[in-house]
Amino acid sequence: MKKLIRKSVDEMQGYTPGEQPVVKGIVKLNTNENPYPPSPNVAKALCAMDAGALRLYPDPLSKELRARIAAIHGCGISQVFACNGSDEVLALCTRAFVENDGSIGYFVPSYSLYPVLAKIRDVKEKPVQLDGDFGWLMPKGYKSSLFFLTYPNAPTGIQYPKKTIREFCSKFSGVVVIDEAYVDFARENCMDLALSLSNVIVIRTVSKSFSLAGLRVGYAVGPEKLINALFKIKDSYNLDRVSQAVALAAFNDLDHMRRNVRKIQASRERLSAALQKIGYSVYPSESNFIWVRPKGLSAVQVFDHLRAEKILVRYFPGPRTGDFIRITIGADAECDKLLGAIIRMNHD
Ligand code: PMP
Repeated sequence: MKKLIRKSVDEMQGYTPGEQPVVKGIVKLNTNENPYPPSPNVAKALCAMDAGALRLYPDPLSKELRARIAAIHGCGISQVFACNGSDEVLALCTRAFVENDGSIGYFVPSYSLYPVLAKIRDVKEKPVQLDGDFGWLMPKGYKSSLFFLTYPNAPTGIQYPKKTIREFCSKFSGVVVIDEAYVDFARENCMDLALSLSNVIVIRTVSKSFSLAGLRVGYAVGPEKLINALFKIKDSYNLDRVSQAVALAAFNDLDHMRRNVRKIQASRERLSAALQKIGYSVYPSESNFIWVRPKGLSAVQVFDHLRAEKILVRYFPGPRTGDFIRITIGADAECDKLLGAIIRMNHD
């Protein structure tokens, strides 16, 4: 019988997103969403929307939104690509920058979508193991057509030294996509590399720091040549009218985002210190989540216990990640609930 599904698709496992529970009363610390609401500008933009205008297609080039993003980063509009969540542009990069006999590289562990994208594209995967403490470890002479570099890394929250990244990017022969989904929570970013090197793209999202994961807007900044390639292969109308207008409203209130980020950073330090006090090891995080090795109980046991108490965190099985849990930083009351549950569990 004729096979209807491409072999690579038939054989692959799809990406597993974190659980989105339908029941109420869950403390949800599993998918790195922001516990605080988005800017009031967002509600205003939604209320001001003319439902009749949805009759018409949106601007295929998202010009107003891109102009605002370009102004934020001090670059030209032609260096900005706007997209339906940063996941969309990650997929587009695998189609634009990798030949059929090319390869896609990424660190292990990092964002678990990258190997899935390589499998969809049906090209060679060239994973690179981080060192024992999840620090930078790049083999000499390493090559791939495209390298996904998560900065700060997920699920560990660790940020590699900027000097190391600059050296890597300037010597690398392929395209480096620096995935800065969490960078607003960090002290350092790589935007200057995307604006100065010919092979670097930086990717950002409104899903985390801007509290807009439900909207699906991301963007890429980089050299015009690479950005043009993304425009050629995108869906005709990849960002709908609502997304363009609401994201623009959010970008017009950066102060709101920064205030929320400062609150989350403070909670992150507080929760990390409290967990360390009871003997848990916590990696220094530059993100809105922490990477934690429990003490006394295994990571799976802690995950299961918390789940039974209606507290969701993330557990990634596997040799590099199976001893850890990833905890999204929630509001202080949520962090306290989590902490209380962990302390009780360790005393039982
Ligand atoms: N990159 C990383 C490292 C992520 O963790 C995520 C969220 N799962 C994304 C990109 C995708 O974000 P978005 O919501 O913009 O598609």
